[in-house]
Amino acid sequence: MPRGFLAGHALGFTGGLTPVARGVLAGHALGFTGGLTPVARGVLAGHALGFTGGLTPVARGVLAGHAPGFTGGLTPAPRGFLAGHAPRFKDGPPGAQPEAHGAARIFPPVVRHLYVHIPFCVRRCSYCDFSIAVRKRVPAEEYVDAVLTELTGVANPAAMPRGESEGELETLYLGGGTPSLLPVEALARLLQELQPRLRKGAEVSLEANPEDVTPDAVRAWRAAGVNRVSLGAQSFDDRVLQWMHRSHDAARIGAAVRVLRASGIDNVSLDLIFALPAELNRDWGRDLELACALRPAHCSLYGLTVEPRTPLDRWISRGAVRPSDERRYAEEYLLAHARLAEAGYAFYEVSNAARDGYRSRHNSAYWSGRPYLGLGPAAHSFDGRARRWNIREWEAYARAVADGRSPVESGEVLTDEQRELERIYLALRTAEGLSLATRRRPAPSFAALWVEQGWVVEEGGRLRCTPEGWLRLDGLVAKLFVAKELPS
Ligand code: SF4
Repeated sequence: MPRGFLAGHALGFTGGLTPVARGVLAGHALGFTGGLTPVARGVLAGHALGFTGGLTPVARGVLAGHAPGFTGGLTPAPRGFLAGHAPRFKDGPPGAQPEAHGAARIFPPVVRHLYVHIPFCVRRCSYCDFSIAVRKRVPAEEYVDAVLTELTGVANPAAMPRGESEGELETLYLGGGTPSLLPVEALARLLQELQPRLRKGAEVSLEANPEDVTPDAVRAWRAAGVNRVSLGAQSFDDRVLQWMHRSHDAARIGAAVRVLRASGIDNVSLDLIFALPAELNRDWGRDLELACALRPAHCSLYGLTVEPRTPLDRWISRGAVRPSDERRYAEEYLLAHARLAEAGYAFYEVSNAARDGYRSRHNSAYWSGRPYLGLGPAAHSFDGRARRWNIREWEAYARAVADGRSPVESGEVLTDEQRELERIYLALRTAEGLSLATRRRPAPSFAALWVEQGWVVEEGGRLRCTPEGWLRLDGLVAKLFVAKELPS
């Protein structure tokens, strides 16, 4: 069991704000690669060591996962989360060895959610530590060959022979990196191979940077089957975009949304990053207003986190900027809730808001704990009990696949406690909340205090976080998890 996590938490939760979990979520925004959220990296990890009761951080990655670099499945996030806790595979995850393919494979023959990580970017953004490959020229053919080999190859314990997976996928998520950098011919070839595995009406999402959204590209994406686009907007302030080392300017965001609509893709999501250093004087309220004016179907919000060895980390080390403090983080998070609600969006997850009918079906599968398969470098896969992840670096991944070796780098099997912890965490991330009926005990008495504080509501046999509660998500989860082990 995550001893540290619980320990720290159990003993140190005091109900107040802390800085906590920013990382948890964060990881995602920027580097999620396949699934899950951001969860637990920080939550569990960071927490363990220093939770004192407060703020968590929304989801840089989780959310982001999509934003700047999530790649499909889990992220590295949950890796840390569970890390140290879940037993690691000694010789690779079950089924990771070619000879184990078949009887020992951990994945069911049929998965309904597929994540494909496309790692290429034209440059690295100042805050990003995702698994990316900066390339002026994208090795498109080589990339598609590698992913298709992984999909069907015997070296992959979770290979999906077409006969077994025909028409079974409910969602496909092409994340990165910058998937929109992949030339349209290569994307079409990839989707042509995946198409027979998709159910009618499947959600097919593509992450795109605004500068790649042209009428010709969108027509080709749409013809290939893409029906949802997640745009990395981040801010509508050119000065801020330059500071982030983004490759687009503010004007390109609105232009991209208009091109997508005119070409028949209405299901557009915008990623925005909040909690930037105070020195930037970023006007978050203005950015929210401009985002809402574009009427996207969906918005994902990521709290900026400082990742080691990024330009942002170096700027902070030499005192050029300071990370946002908790107060600012909380104010901006709550302002986003207020503004988006006024504009007709409902937060259905700690970092994600949508207009009616436009929730992300793919990410919702992660948050429901459903199995998913991830393909490509750094992509994560999960079968409900075991999680595994691919080699992170593009060239090493491509070499492994070309040599007929498994691209799986490592994995872990979750214990019952870890699964319970993840279940509580993921449920409380969502607007549906945690069903108390599925817990071994009724809501603990301290939940009444949380209701009084305005952090949760308890109704219909469920515990749901308010926005104030989502700011403290990590702490609430830890307390709940520990509570089930207390004597009644
Ligand atoms: S576009 Fe920027 S934030 Fe997104 S993955 Fe590439 S470098 Fe990272």
